[in-house]
Amino acid sequence: MPRLAETLSSREIVRSGLCIGCGGCAATMAMDRDGLWKPEVAAGQDDVAAICPFSPAAANEDVLAAERFPAPTAQTAFLGRFESNWVGHVAEDGFRTNGSSGGMVSWVASELLRTGAVDAVAHVAPVADPQSDGRFFAYGLSRDADAIAGGAKSRYYPVELSGVIAAIRAMPGRYAVVGVPCFIKALHLLRRSDPVIAERVTHLLGLFCGHQKSARLVDSFAWQLGAPIAQVKAVDYRIKDAARPANWYRAHLTLDDGSSRAEDWWHLADGDWGAGFFQNPACDWCDDVVAETADVAFGDAWVEPYSSDGRGTNVVIARSPEIHAMIAAAVVDGRLALTEVDAAFVEGTQAAGFRHRREGLAYRLTWRKRGVRAVKRVAPGAALPLRRKLVYRMRHAIARDSHRLARLARWSGKPACYTMWARGMLAVYRGLAWSHGRLGGWIDRVLPDARPK
Ligand SMILES: Cc1cc2nc3c(=O)[nH]c(=O)nc-3n(C[C@H](O)[C@H](O)[C@H](O)COP(=O)(O)OP(=O)(O)OC[C@H]3O[C@@H](n4cnc5c(N)ncnc54)[C@H](O)[C@@H]3O)c2cc1C
Repeated sequence: MPRLAETLSSREIVRSGLCIGCGGCAATMAMDRDGLWKPEVAAGQDDVAAICPFSPAAANEDVLAAERFPAPTAQTAFLGRFESNWVGHVAEDGFRTNGSSGGMVSWVASELLRTGAVDAVAHVAPVADPQSDGRFFAYGLSRDADAIAGGAKSRYYPVELSGVIAAIRAMPGRYAVVGVPCFIKALHLLRRSDPVIAERVTHLLGLFCGHQKSARLVDSFAWQLGAPIAQVKAVDYRIKDAARPANWYRAHLTLDDGSSRAEDWWHLADGDWGAGFFQNPACDWCDDVVAETADVAFGDAWVEPYSSDGRGTNVVIARSPEIHAMIAAAVVDGRLALTEVDAAFVEGTQAAGFRHRREGLAYRLTWRKRGVRAVKRVAPGAALPLRRKLVYRMRHAIARDSHRLARLARWSGKPACYTMWARGMLAVYRGLAWSHGRLGGWIDRVLPDARPK
C-alpha cells in the first residue's frame, strides 16, 4: 500500500522511483548502474520530506512561486506566474551561435555577472577528462563571460548539485544557478531550511524540461556511431547547423584521437526524444514543464517558423521584475532580438510537454505504484481515449526497459541487445503516437468506443 509520509528518508524516495538525483539532500552522490545519480546516505540518517522536490510532503510549485513572486503581472495554469513572455534570440555576437537555442541562458548569466548582480553562476559544462572523471558533464561555478560561454548548450545528461551547494556554503557571495525545473524547486526547498543558501543563492535561471536522460544515452550514441565509449572525449547532443531545421537534432561525438562521429537523431534506434528512452523514472511524476519557480525560464520555440530556423530561437518567461527589466532594457538597446508574446504562444511551443505532464500525468497517477506516492497539482484521471492511454503506457515501458536493456548490452558486450529492442519499440510507439500512424488508426477504427463514458 503506497504511503504518504511526514518524514521520509532519501532511501525511501530512491526505492519508490522518485529520486531525480539532484544532490539537494546529500553531501555525496554516486552514479548507479543505470547512469543516474543517487544520494549516498547511511540508512536512517536523513529526513528529506521537506527538501526533496519529489517528496509528497514538500511545498509544491504553486506555494514556492507565490512566495517568490507575490504580485505577478499575470499567471496561467500552464506557465505559472510571470511578468512577460518573449520569443527570439540574442543579437549580441556569439551567444546564439554558441548556444543550443537562441543563447538567452548564457546571455542572462553573463549579464548578471557583468552588472555585479551575482559573483558566480552555477551551471553545467563538459568535464576536462571524462574518461578519468567517469562523467561527461558536471555542475561548476563560472565567474566571467568566457567561462559561461564554455558551458553553453543543452546537456541531456545526469548532473547533480551537491558539489556546487558545498562550494556556495564555503564561499560567501551572491550566486545564480541554472537548472531544470525540479533542480530549481530543490534549491527553493533548501533555501527554506538553510539560511546560508537562502542568502547566497539569489537568482534562479530555469530551463524548460521534457525529461532528464541517464548517462546511457551517450553509450547508445557510441554503440550506434561505431565509437568505443572508452575513447569518447566529448559529446554534443545538438550540433548546430544554420542550414537545417532547429528540430533536426544531430548527435556528435569527438574521440580522443581527434576524429569525430555524427548522426541525425532520426536515424538512431532511440532517436525520438518524446518516446522516453533513458528517462529518469522520477520524471513520470513531474508537473512542471516551464520552471514555474525560476526567476526566468528558457525554452526552444518549437513552433513554425522558428522550428525550421537552424540558428535557434528561444522562448523566455520573465517571472521576476528584475529580470523582466533587464530583458526589456536590452531589447530597447538592440542587444536582444526579442518580441513580446502572449502566454498562449509560449504554451503552444510546449504542447507535447504539457500533454504529457497534464493528461499523461493524470493517467499515470491512477496506476498502482509501490512505495511513496507522488502528490501532484494534477488530479488523477483516466478519462482519455484508449490510444492515448497506450501511448503513455508505451512511453513508461520504453523508459523503464531502456535502462534494463542497456544494462544487458553493457554486461554482455552486445549492443544489439539494446539497439534491436529499441528499434522495434520505436516502430510500435510511432505507429501509436503519430496521429496518422497505421497502428493508431487501426485502434481508432476497431475500438471506436474506447473512450470512457
Ligand atoms: C534535460 C533538459 C531537457 C529540456 N527539455 C526542454 C523541453 O522539453 N522544451 C524546451 O523548449 N526546452 C527544453 N530544454 C531547454 C533547451 O534545451 C535549452 O537549454 C534552452 O532553450 C536554452 O537554450 P539557450 O541557447 O538559451 O542556452 P545556452 O546559451 O546554450 O545555455 C544553456 C545553459 O544551460 C546549462 N545547462 C545545460 N544543460 C544543463 C542541465 N542538464 N542542467 C542544468 N543546466 C544545464 C548550460 O551550462 C548553459 O549555462 C531542456 C534542457 C535540458 C537540459
